[in-house]
Amino acid sequence: MKKQNSEQPSFRDRPINMADDGGRKWVYAKKPKGKLFKRRTILSWIFLAFLLGAPFIKIDGHPFMLLDIVGRKFVIFGAIFWAQDTFILALLMLTFVLFIVLFTVTYGRVWCGWACPQTIFLEMVFRKIETLIEGNYIKRAKRDKGEWDFDKIWRKVLKHVIFIILSIIMTNAFLLWFTGPEKLWTIVNEPISDNFSGFFIMIIISAFFYWVYSFFREQICTMVCPYGRMQGVLLDKKSIIVAYDYLRGEPRGKKDTEGDCINCKRCVAVCPTGIDIRNGTQLECINCTACIDECDIVMKSVNKPKGLIRFDSYEGIKEGHTTIWNSRNKAYSAVLVILFSFFVYTLVTRPAVEATILRTSGTLFQEQPNNKISNLYNIKIINKTHEDKILTVKILSHEAELQMAGKSITLKNHDMFESVMILILDKKELDGNKTKVVFGVYEGEKLIETYDLTFVGP
Ligand code: SF4
Ligand code: SF4
Repeated sequence: MKKQNSEQPSFRDRPINMADDGGRKWVYAKKPKGKLFKRRTILSWIFLAFLLGAPFIKIDGHPFMLLDIVGRKFVIFGAIFWAQDTFILALLMLTFVLFIVLFTVTYGRVWCGWACPQTIFLEMVFRKIETLIEGNYIKRAKRDKGEWDFDKIWRKVLKHVIFIILSIIMTNAFLLWFTGPEKLWTIVNEPISDNFSGFFIMIIISAFFYWVYSFFREQICTMVCPYGRMQGVLLDKKSIIVAYDYLRGEPRGKKDTEGDCINCKRCVAVCPTGIDIRNGTQLECINCTACIDECDIVMKSVNKPKGLIRFDSYEGIKEGHTTIWNSRNKAYSAVLVILFSFFVYTLVTRPAVEATILRTSGTLFQEQPNNKISNLYNIKIINKTHEDKILTVKILSHEAELQMAGKSITLKNHDMFESVMILILDKKELDGNKTKVVFGVYEGEKLIETYDLTFVGP
């Protein structure tokens, strides 16, 4: 077998962006171009439009997405989740985590390079502005090493002013997800003294975004992100990753007797995390596919087949498969489809109106005139729909009297109703000291939920 790397006798033992003295080695990434980069750009604009625009979308005047932590109400794709839905949310989270694990095992870290907001903002917004103001990666590196002359100062000042403004815009876009546009607009128009804590939080988050996108950059992916750190245990030799075909590429060089890699190092120049993918899969690789595009351009220029760097598994490269699909990938993909279908099913089949009836804690029974006994119950009903509802509560198991404020409950959309009910039963109806009673919640004539509870007697 050919040697995987003909240049380095041993692999590096520190992060790629760490200099010999332990300091930071700045990554000057070349602007990518090519088929995959074009697709990534289109996808990024779609994601950016969603991130920035989703909180403004309304369905029948109600938010499409809202994470109202203070009001303990989440609206996700128009579906409302209250605190009572914690079980469903936990189930969805569990499904989602499983989905992420299976997805990563099968398709590698493609989320990081193609859909993660950190990559999208850094590569598609901040780095593009930087390139526009400071020039390409060679000019940027040269200018940074040079004197602080007028040319360097005005470019740096302009870039950082734009970055600060962008960070403030991003923070407000981020806050929109938690407040909704109307509330944020009210807060923005109120004096700072009325919302000092909110203003302080906004400044802190903006400063954090500015620091991340101006200075910390790719280190979020390579050193901080827990998902990135998990790659070592999630990937195996069958996982589809961005991989260098070392069998085809080595030994590197331009002579006819050597492999296809001409050692131009353009795949390294274009890498936003600064690694050399020819050294094999590395923790820093975010699967952005910029090196695939770049190497394909090089291969075309030297009349060699594309795909020296490509989406493939380690096993696929080693055994020379022509397809990235294997039985495991197919099986995992089927499980992913099932998991996603379960997610959608849980969402769609959730009850639109959810009632909770419980016997009031700490109470027993009360003697009533005419040989009757009463118990006290708490009722809570949540309307998760966009329509107002008129509901009634009846007792289904016995001929009994149910007392509560009003004959019916008028529940506004997205609203919650809480009250106390008194159930009065004849003593002759009781089965010992604990009698099973059944409550029914009706919308018009339609029974929407039943509850089996206990009635306590003497
Ligand atoms: S871009 Fe392709 S040919 Fe150039 S160094 Fe990288 S792998 Fe080799
Ligand atoms: S090695 Fe390639 S795919 Fe991985 S981060 Fe660098 S450019 Fe992106």
